Amino acid sequence: MSASLELPVVDAFAGVPAPPEDPLALMDEIDRLKVEKDATILAHYYVDGEIQDIADVSGDSLQLARAATKVTSGTIVFAGVHFMGESAKILNPEKRVLMPDLLAGCSLADSCPAPALKAFQDNLRAEGRQFETVAYINTTAAVKALCDWIVTSGNAREIIERVPADKEILFVPDQHLGRYLMEVTGRPMILWPGSCMVHEVFSIQDLLRAKRNNPKAVVIAHPECPRNVLEHADVIGGTEKMKKHVSAIAEPTTFLVATEANMIHPLHKAAPQHTFIPVPGIMTSTGETCACNRCPHMARNTLQKVRDCLRDGRPEITWQPYFDDARDVLIRSLLQ
Ligand code: SF4
Repeated sequence: MSASLELPVVDAFAGVPAPPEDPLALMDEIDRLKVEKDATILAHYYVDGEIQDIADVSGDSLQLARAATKVTSGTIVFAGVHFMGESAKILNPEKRVLMPDLLAGCSLADSCPAPALKAFQDNLRAEGRQFETVAYINTTAAVKALCDWIVTSGNAREIIERVPADKEILFVPDQHLGRYLMEVTGRPMILWPGSCMVHEVFSIQDLLRAKRNNPKAVVIAHPECPRNVLEHADVIGGTEKMKKHVSAIAEPTTFLVATEANMIHPLHKAAPQHTFIPVPGIMTSTGETCACNRCPHMARNTLQKVRDCLRDGRPEITWQPYFDDARDVLIRSLLQ
C-alpha cells in the first residue's frame, strides 16, 4: 500500500462539547469529593444558585475573605472570580486554593492595571500630593500591593473614616462606588475611571417602566450602579446589606433588584415571602433586553468545573511575589 493511501485517523467527535451532566449526580459527586479531598467550597452570591447550594459558605467578597481564614480543611475551592481566589490564597498561604475556572476575571479589576496605577501614583507624588490609595476589593493582587486600604461595599464607610483627615484619597477602581462614598462620607476623592460591565448597563427606562408597573415595589441597588440608577433606589447597599434589609421586612413586598441577577437566589432563600424582580439590562439594537445583568465571568463557574477541579486538584492559585505586600493590606483592612 502506498503512503498516500494511509489516511489520517480523524476523531469525528473532536471539538464537540460534552453533553451536560445530570446536576443531581454532579452534586452527589461533589459532596463525595469534598470529603475525600478534604476541601471546603466557598461561593460568591453571583454564581449560579446550584453552586451556592452545594457550597459550605456562600456570601459577598468580605464574608468570603473572612470565611477563608477560618477554613480548617487543606483545600479551598473558590467559586467566584480570579481576584477572590487570589485573596483567599493570600489570607491562607499554607492552603491549596483551587478555582473552577482560572479565566473567570472581572471587568472592574481589569479597568485598573497595576502598571497604570503605579504611574498615576508616581505622578501624584511628583506633584507633592499627600494621599492614601483606597482600593475596592475587586482589584488584582498586584494592585492591592500598591494600596493602603482595601474596602468592600460592606465596610467601605468604616475604612474611609480610618484615612487621616490631612490626606487626600485616591479611590480605585470603581468610579460609581467612589462617587457614592464621597457623598455618604463627605470626603473628596480622586476617582479612578473604572466601572463594572454588569452594573453599568442597567436600563433606566426599564427600571422606570418596572416601577410604573409595580408602584409599591421597593428598588434596591448596588452602589456599583451609576448615579442615574441610584437616584431611583429606595435602598442602596452591597449584597449583604440587601439580604439584611429584605429579611427584616415580614410583610410580603415586591423588590426591584439592581445588581447581578444571581443575587435573587440568596435573597429569595433569606426572605421567601417577597417577590424579587431583576432590573433588566439595556435594550439591544434588535429591541430585546440583553442578559447584561448576568456577570459573564461569574458564569464561567459551573457544577461540572467545580467537580473537575476537586477531582483533578487544579487549576490552582499559586503564590506570587507581590502577594506579601497585598497580604499586609488585606489583613489591615479586613481582619483588624
Ligand atoms: S459583576 Fe462586575 S465587579 Fe462583579 S465580578 Fe462581574 S464584572 Fe467584576
